[in-house]
Amino acid sequence: MTAAPSTPSNAQDQPNPQNIVIVGNGQAGIQLVDSLRKEGYAGTITVIGEETHFPYQRPPLSKDFMAADKEPKPLPLRAEKFFTDNDVDSRLGVQVTSIDRAGHTVELSDESSISYTTLVLATGAANRELNVPGSDLQGIYGLRTLADAEAVHARLDTVRSVVVIGAGFIGLEFAAAARKRGLDVTVLEYADRPMARALSPVMGNWFAQAHLNMGVDLRLGEGIASFTGGGSVDSEGGHVAAAVSTTGETYPADMVLVGIGVIPRTELAEQAGLAVSNGITVDSAMRTDDEDIYALGDCANYPSHHAEARTRLESVQNATDQARHTAKSILDTHDAGRDYTELPWFWSTQGDLRLQIAGIAHPDDETVLRGNPDNGKFSVFCFRNGRLAAVESVNQPADHMAARRILAQERNLTPEQAADLEFDFKAYSKAAAAGV
Ligand SMILES: Cc1cc2nc3c(=O)[nH]c(=O)nc-3n(C[C@H](O)[C@H](O)[C@H](O)COP(=O)(O)OP(=O)(O)OC[C@H]3O[C@@H](n4cnc5c(N)ncnc54)[C@H](O)[C@@H]3O)c2cc1C
Repeated sequence: MTAAPSTPSNAQDQPNPQNIVIVGNGQAGIQLVDSLRKEGYAGTITVIGEETHFPYQRPPLSKDFMAADKEPKPLPLRAEKFFTDNDVDSRLGVQVTSIDRAGHTVELSDESSISYTTLVLATGAANRELNVPGSDLQGIYGLRTLADAEAVHARLDTVRSVVVIGAGFIGLEFAAAARKRGLDVTVLEYADRPMARALSPVMGNWFAQAHLNMGVDLRLGEGIASFTGGGSVDSEGGHVAAAVSTTGETYPADMVLVGIGVIPRTELAEQAGLAVSNGITVDSAMRTDDEDIYALGDCANYPSHHAEARTRLESVQNATDQARHTAKSILDTHDAGRDYTELPWFWSTQGDLRLQIAGIAHPDDETVLRGNPDNGKFSVFCFRNGRLAAVESVNQPADHMAARRILAQERNLTPEQAADLEFDFKAYSKAAAAGV
């Protein structure tokens, strides 16, 4: 979809008409368009996306999109009308291949070039690829794009046994969806608990048991060693038939889903000589070491107020809030200061379990339970150096919302208050939000 390039009527009236070029039309890129216009920016905006699809939401791809009883349909990030209403020059199916910083232009795969006054890299991340014997067999998929999801969905109708490599969020969401379809699902995870990078051990272990209860054959402490082929749907030995784990076990696999994490898309930034270290390095205004180039979302490594360290997050909240912040940084419309301090939060839906996380948990945080894990509705409060640092909730949206208010206001509560069901956590959080 390409809305005709246009010059908003008052752009010519501005003393220095700007041309903002955004590379990447995912969650961050499209929110940035929205926020720039809401902040009153009247210059031109060009958004370039290499995928041919109209901009869509990724989270459903590993969840509802995989259901057997529904026609798989992508959810758009914005209605088509948004792009014309906002005078956006949206280029689909075109890749930005290089940046000429001195000339302030980007080169495109269709051999055209576009000049910019401000360039924004919202290039996201790419799936980390497996490199074990047999990884190139047919029937082994990643899940990042709509094209990936369509291919996986089409395959699900024809298979019986599924092996998932990696018990991270996407792997487990997909495993739960595949179980709901009645398939035999094995998950191989090298670590000793699922989602180990992002969840407290107590919550990770609870989810391990929950997946076993769903009928997932979750194998912890077992990585993938190789795949063997032959004798399956596409036959001729070119199709995966089994996964062999690091313990030597063999698991039948009509298809395999690989969910072993992502790597940030930094290739353009690297080629342009921008600072890169686990993502494109930005300051708290989301600006790179070139003052006319910004980066945000999955591809950006930023100084995190809440993590008290540089970090790179992969979430809708992160992409969305950073886009709002970037728009203000570019237009210099921050009310006070420029530091990005939004509280990170995240969700994951695995079968009937809705996991929500506010803040950033560390594996060695002190943890306190609120509610009863046995009935599947509870929260884990994570304390670090005596202060509340994160709250993980399962099917407890009220706890999650209250935790967000408290953490955003940097209010503390004691582990005793957190565990006490008589303590009115919601009222406390509302008072915190109101500054009382
Ligand atoms: C299956 C799945 C499920 C998820 N579930 C959740 C969830 O439940 N909750 C949650 O918070 N988050 C979830 N996420 C993460 C969330 O979707 C991402 O964090 C978010 O999309 C990041 O936004 P972004 O704009 O930084 O990157 P993206 O949305 O990935 O967009 C980047 C875009 O840039 C394009 N691009 C890159 N380089 C170029 C180039 N050189 N030229 C042109 N285009 C380029 C890419 O093709 C891509 O379309 C999920 C992600 C996936 C894949």
